[in-house]
Amino acid sequence: MNNYLLIVFDSCRYDSFLAARPKTLRKLGRIERRWSYASWTAPSHYNLLMGLMPHSSPKRTYASEYYKTDFLKFNERLGGGGIAFESMAPALYLPPFLKRLGYKTHARVSLPVLNPHTILNHGFDSYKLMPKHNDFRAMLREVQFAEDAPSFYLLNAGETHYPYALADEPADSWPKLSGVHGVFKHLDAHAPGGKTRPTPMNARKLAELRQRQVDAVRFLDGAMEELFDLVPANTYITVTSDHGELFGEDGYFGHGPIQHPKVLETPFVEGKIR
Ligand SMILES: [Zn+2]
Repeated sequence: MNNYLLIVFDSCRYDSFLAARPKTLRKLGRIERRWSYASWTAPSHYNLLMGLMPHSSPKRTYASEYYKTDFLKFNERLGGGGIAFESMAPALYLPPFLKRLGYKTHARVSLPVLNPHTILNHGFDSYKLMPKHNDFRAMLREVQFAEDAPSFYLLNAGETHYPYALADEPADSWPKLSGVHGVFKHLDAHAPGGKTRPTPMNARKLAELRQRQVDAVRFLDGAMEELFDLVPANTYITVTSDHGELFGEDGYFGHGPIQHPKVLETPFVEGKIR
């Protein structure tokens, strides 16, 4: 069976992903616009680990049919056969299911909300919260493939998460929160009776933050090249995001308690590299 890598660029918007023009990631296949099942990190990773990849939101299709059909893609991802959503019963969770198939199962995560004490850590042989929230290259140094068994890795990359900083960027040069706080203040002011609007200064700050996310994707695209050199033949890779991010659209910043299409819109690309 194939090794299977599920790589999540945390908070990465679909349009940030495209704006980075990722050369390496494109080698996996066509970059799709999809939608996450959840608007923030923990429930979204739970969905991913149930095998529910961000969906393509098809019209005139029963949701129950879509789940089943989309899950059949795991036959290609894992290079096996006869895998259906029911195969994961009763836990309906990928890691224990993959273990039953003979996989070594590993997770390396960046965001503390996914730490190894959470319920997400079920059925993993190893599960680690990385010491830094934004060091995908450090994560890659821990990726090893067993010779006698296929491996599954969940890799949660934090470079694309606020403040969109790379590991070598000193924390004191990360973007200041003041502009963002300003937006929140103004959001409050938009409540009934409010008068003020976000200032152009805030708009500039938000554009800068968005550009930082694009730059983070470009960095990760470069790091993916190192990963491609590292993985054995018969490795299938899915790269996606757990949710999107708002950079000022309709007065929102961030993700989570936000009802907006951009918070669910995610990039999705997958395939085998050789
Ligand atoms: Zn997230």
